[in-house]
Amino acid sequence: MTKKCIRCNKKKKLNSFSIDRSRKFGIKDYCLACNKILSDSDYQKNKKQRKRKHKEWREKNKEYHNKLCREHYYKNKSRYNENNKKWLKNHPEYMSYARDLRRAQVKQALPNWADKIHIRKIYDNRPKDMVVDHIVPLQGKNVRGLHVPWNLTYLTKHENQIKSNKLLTFLLEI
Ligand SMILES: [Zn+2]
Repeated sequence: MTKKCIRCNKKKKLNSFSIDRSRKFGIKDYCLACNKILSDSDYQKNKKQRKRKHKEWREKNKEYHNKLCREHYYKNKSRYNENNKKWLKNHPEYMSYARDLRRAQVKQALPNWADKIHIRKIYDNRPKDMVVDHIVPLQGKNVRGLHVPWNLTYLTKHENQIKSNKLLTFLLEI
């Protein structure tokens, strides 16, 4: 059994048409090849509009979108890490820049009255395989943490790596 495609007028076997249960034969009027061409040009035509719509949606569903991004990141973590490593290898100047920036940030976040001996002790007593991290980030989006004992905590290297890779991914995007 064959059917004529209304676009190319060729008689084709029924399995050359995509399924559409609302149609008479349960298949589309266009053959698969024509359907593809049509949807491709539609796709091109509507690309801009869809992009705009998606942006609107993203802004309206910020939290959900962020959640999707996070999930995507964790699923593709190894790929991200590989890319970051590659990128760092090609930009050795970035590491020294990041180190200087970090030092300046810490200096800025260190109040005159801070108990520097206590801070030193926290660093000295750091458990093996852990790093010192700021609970409230020194360069938070809304708040800026201080370099003081009660804002310091220990993180495993793995936890810290997840954190810094996220930062790196973010830096690579801007
Ligand atoms: Zn056709």
